[in-house]
Amino acid sequence: MRTKLCSFSVCLLFVACCATHLAAQQCSIAPKAANLGETLRLTCSGDLASARWNDRTIHLFAQPDGKKLGLMPVSVKDKPGPATIDFLSQQGATLASVKFVVRATRFPSENVRLSADIEALRSTPEEIKLLTDFRNGVSDQRFWQDPLAPPVEGCVTSPFGVKRLHNGKPTGEFHGGVDQRTPAGEPIRAIADGKIAYAQKFNVLGNAVGLDHGQGLGSMYLHMSKLEVAPCALVKKGDILGYAGSTGRSTGPHLHWVLYANGVNVNPGQWVKFTACPHPPKKK
Ligand SMILES: [Zn+2]
Repeated sequence: MRTKLCSFSVCLLFVACCATHLAAQQCSIAPKAANLGETLRLTCSGDLASARWNDRTIHLFAQPDGKKLGLMPVSVKDKPGPATIDFLSQQGATLASVKFVVRATRFPSENVRLSADIEALRSTPEEIKLLTDFRNGVSDQRFWQDPLAPPVEGCVTSPFGVKRLHNGKPTGEFHGGVDQRTPAGEPIRAIADGKIAYAQKFNVLGNAVGLDHGQGLGSMYLHMSKLEVAPCALVKKGDILGYAGSTGRSTGPHLHWVLYANGVNVNPGQWVKFTACPHPPKKK
């Protein structure tokens, strides 16, 4: 009896070891070195359910090619240096670990002059809840496909990650999206297929649209003069969501748009090609 139990345990150990080894071969991270604000694409061919990096756990979704895909965001506030992502089974056991590097990334500072009435605008608790739920929500169906399309053609007046000062005072906040030069009234288009999560007026964001692209990818478009879509509508890449304006906390007509990967603001510049406007913000 003792011998049987022993050989059974040894066998189990061997299986576990083999599974770990195989899974390690089957998961990859791209890119292997990421700047702050970039999105890592995690691909696995094994039967893995999720991936964890520090306190961030994301779901891996089955794709038509039989592989699993997940989008792991690197936040602007993450620590540069070597890092490891663990890949987990349905039961939460670590089956594989893959290393990558978070590169030190420098973001410029930018002062924004706001009039007193615009600076005084505040979000209501209902608005904050709606926006938080949208940011953190992950839906199973994938609508998006590569490549994403820029929502407008204008050059970038303020890139992602810029440290923001309001009227000379540091806000402790960074620019969570991209500003593109956009004349009032210009159509703003969906960067990919998706489902409209909200299309309404907010105190700070102005007329805004939130678009769920599925499987952890979302986008948001602010300060519009007019909305052209309604919640729950399905849209295709390139469909008109609304028209550019300067509603909410905005100093003039432009498009501010945001890309979310599993609840974290990520750099749209990794996904979409932009041209910078002739006068970039001053570096400090
Ligand atoms: Zn902006």
